[in-house]
Amino acid sequence: MAALIGPASAWATFAVVMLALVVYHVRHLARLSRWLADPVPGRVPEGSGTWDEVLSALHKYERAGVRRESLLEEALTRFRRAAQALPDGVIMLDAENRIEWCNDAAAAQLGLDPRADVGQAIANLLRAPVFIDHLAARDQTGAVQMQVGDAVFALRLVPYGESQKLLLSRDVTQAERLETMRRDFVANVSHELRTPLTVLVGFLETVRELKLDPQRTRDYLGMMQEQSARMHRIIEDLLTLSVLESAPPPAAERVPTRPLLERLRADAQALSGGRHRIVLLGSPAVDLLGSESELSSAFGNLVSNAIRYTPQDGEVRIIWRDAAEGASFVVEDTGIGIAQEHLPRLTERFYRVDRSRSRETGGTGLGLAIVKHAVARHQAHLDVESKPGQGSRFTIRFPAKRTIPGETDLAQTRNSSA
Ligand code: ADP
Repeated sequence: MAALIGPASAWATFAVVMLALVVYHVRHLARLSRWLADPVPGRVPEGSGTWDEVLSALHKYERAGVRRESLLEEALTRFRRAAQALPDGVIMLDAENRIEWCNDAAAAQLGLDPRADVGQAIANLLRAPVFIDHLAARDQTGAVQMQVGDAVFALRLVPYGESQKLLLSRDVTQAERLETMRRDFVANVSHELRTPLTVLVGFLETVRELKLDPQRTRDYLGMMQEQSARMHRIIEDLLTLSVLESAPPPAAERVPTRPLLERLRADAQALSGGRHRIVLLGSPAVDLLGSESELSSAFGNLVSNAIRYTPQDGEVRIIWRDAAEGASFVVEDTGIGIAQEHLPRLTERFYRVDRSRSRETGGTGLGLAIVKHAVARHQAHLDVESKPGQGSRFTIRFPAKRTIPGETDLAQTRNSSA
């Protein structure tokens, strides 16, 4: 009997141990499978015994995964922040040219919605034929230009990864405008110089080929001299303009106003040759601070225009006004005047209301461009008011910081206080 009880109790003990073991494993397995069904990071179940080793290893692995993920997320956030900070537009396209992501600059420039347009084919959103052709082309090197409203954008495709692309957009409106201005300027200068040169060459041939009497020869030489002088004036004005554009800001040297105005009156009288009434009004109490040559060239251009565009017996007034907020130099005339629509373009190089009248009176079309630059370099403003048939008023307003008490007044103050 004892012999039987021994093995039976051994079996029972064995069965209990086995059962405990099964329960231990099943409970751990159940916990693990519950966690695997919803793997909350950092909540890997804890275990005991062998399971402790397994679950700790899993815990470590899971923590490393979480760390890797957060590093990746950080890197992605950094990349997106950098791409957002770019002044240029960046659009990520997939292999089918659909938008995966775009920065705010691209959205603003090209009118995209950074959320709603994700997954949209770029060709459905940017429909300019020049871009559609570029997108379909085999060779996508280089950039194409696309007009959006008043702005011009350069679009460039850059392949990366496996058949993905970056579409970069850059606002080139200003550069395009400058390029157009440069082209127009070169064309204008060539035209302005070619005209007198053609006339000059024509006269030269005439004088060389034909047997002319001395009087005729002198006439032709006189006309040739006129054309040469015209070319000379254009080149002088172009040089003045280029100096005004590139020179450092003018020095703040004292420019005595009274003698400057007196010189202008004398020059005006000489230019008019007695055909106009020249009046100088105002008694300046301040001098200007700036470049004497630039200021006298700006003032001189306004006075010379007033005389050239005012018929005989008209009046030209040179006026100086002191005020608390600064000083103004004004030139008024009773001349032909300028229609309103021309006023905004008057200071453009070579812009003239009446080309032949400007030429007849020795104009280069650069005078007001010179005035505009010289005035801006002294933080002053040029205003133009005019009525066709009645006359014009050109006003240069200087800020107070460009004026200084006049020397004569200072001398008087010193004398009276002595
Ligand atoms: P220009 O050498 O042709 O006079 P400016 O640049 O000095 O060139 O002036 C540009 C144009 O503005 C002139 O061609 C002329 O049509 C107009 N203008 C300038 N000043 C006057 C004025 N006082 N009265 C009428 N028109 C003027």
